[in-house]
Amino acid sequence: MDNCIFCKIAKKEIPSTVEYEDDKVIAFRDIEPAAPVHVLIVPKVHIKNIKEINGDNADLLKDIHNAANKVAEKLGVAESGYRLITNCGEDAGQTVFHLHYHLVGGRKLSPRIL
Ligand code: 5GP
Ligand code: ZN
Repeated sequence: MDNCIFCKIAKKEIPSTVEYEDDKVIAFRDIEPAAPVHVLIVPKVHIKNIKEINGDNADLLKDIHNAANKVAEKLGVAESGYRLITNCGEDAGQTVFHLHYHLVGGRKLSPRIL
């Protein structure tokens, strides 16, 4: 989609530090990391957020979780633990309206989600 930052990153029009990629998903380091490991897992197809997930595109969630597992292994947090978060809409703090999951770890996270 024109003017979408994550579409541009997926097409390599904007540089990023890629940690995993396949034909459906790209995973790259967050530009403002909240923890030592902070990777964004992003489907290559433009979907606004999880509100747009339905019976026709839900297979993508499998691809996203597969990518998340690969990233967690690669970056050494698979055993220590990590959090996988997606923000949906303004109240959740979504700022980039292209579906993405934050994989955050590498330090002890707050025991509560908020
Ligand atoms: P949201 O708030 O929408 O859940 O998360 C958007 C995330 O994208 C933020 O954590 C922000 O730091 C990250 N981000 C925004 N622009 C860029 C960019 O150009 N490159 C990278 N690598 N991350 C970005
Ligand atoms: Zn997009």
